[in-house]
Amino acid sequence: MKIFITKRIPQKGIDLLTAAGHEVAIHDSSTPLSPTDLIQAGQQADYILNGGMQKFDEEFFENCPNLKALSLMSVGHDNVDIPAATKYGIPVSNTPGVLSGATADVAFLLMLAVSRKAFFNHKQILQGQWKGFDPTAHLGIELNNKTLGIYGLGRIGFEFARKARAAYNMEIIYYNRGRNLEAERILGARYVNFDDLLTQSDVLSIHAALTSETSNRFNLDTFKRMKNSAILINTARGGLVQEDDLASALRLGELWGAGLDVTNPEPMAADNPLLNLENVCILPHIGSATVETRDNMALMAASNLLAAIKGEKMPQIINPEVYT
Ligand code: NAP
Repeated sequence: MKIFITKRIPQKGIDLLTAAGHEVAIHDSSTPLSPTDLIQAGQQADYILNGGMQKFDEEFFENCPNLKALSLMSVGHDNVDIPAATKYGIPVSNTPGVLSGATADVAFLLMLAVSRKAFFNHKQILQGQWKGFDPTAHLGIELNNKTLGIYGLGRIGFEFARKARAAYNMEIIYYNRGRNLEAERILGARYVNFDDLLTQSDVLSIHAALTSETSNRFNLDTFKRMKNSAILINTARGGLVQEDDLASALRLGELWGAGLDVTNPEPMAADNPLLNLENVCILPHIGSATVETRDNMALMAASNLLAAIKGEKMPQIINPEVYT
């Protein structure tokens, strides 16, 4: 079978596919494919493994009649028009679970870095602005016994809440559309409505998927309802946060600070004003970027494709209705 990989992935995943006797072509470039080139690749391949942030819209599925399955090397699938994939009979899979610990680590890293203004203080050294020890300068805030609010307490939110509870005895509150009874039982997490999540959180961490319902959910109105001493963390998708509003809220002192692993758009422009604010820490979408996690994601994405090639249900199927 002909498999097209949209961006180089860890070798373990490629080896799994070639060892099974399949022909693999890779778009080995840091520049994403144009929509036209992606369609052309999809017309020549039987299967696609998406290693990057390519968008798969209805036009893509409509124009790739030979395509049999699409495997994403990510848990997020906001880049794929899933109803369109289903309409054209294409099963789509993702890589849930294997990246939860690594992504939760980045949420933790950002929470701690923002609480101590770590990135800003580091920049001060680079700029020759470190004038010596000062008892009243560089002050951060502590996390012990504070309240951690999770917007979207699923796999990654759970891992982050577990770490924050173990490290700082943080009280966990959360808002989902449904209850997470396991988190309530294991972490003592308390389900609250969205307004209480905003007003009670000392740290509010975003972990819900980007959908039409969650897009720009965090904006000036929501920031104004949060504590002035609160920290906002986003490791989900940039589109959940209105970034201009976030910059305004930080300048107005509506929030203590923010830590972002994801931005809108990506990559973030180097002159984005958020990068120069004192209480902001931004990372270039590295949530799952460890050797171990990326290997596991590549293996899982390849295994999903191998199942599809054998005519089996993809283990991590996103649109199971495609099989009926
Ligand atoms: P998950 O297990 O599906 O958890 C997402 C949670 O969000 C669910 O508990 C869901 O609960 C809740 N949710 C969904 N829609 C909501 C809404 N409208 N309002 C409130 N809560 C909502 O997903 P995950 O594996 O933790 O991944 C979460 C997201 O992280 C992914 O979608 C992806 O975008 C992002 N991610 C980022 C990185 C990175 O590198 N930074 C890495 C991996 C994943 P209900 O259904 O009950 O609402």
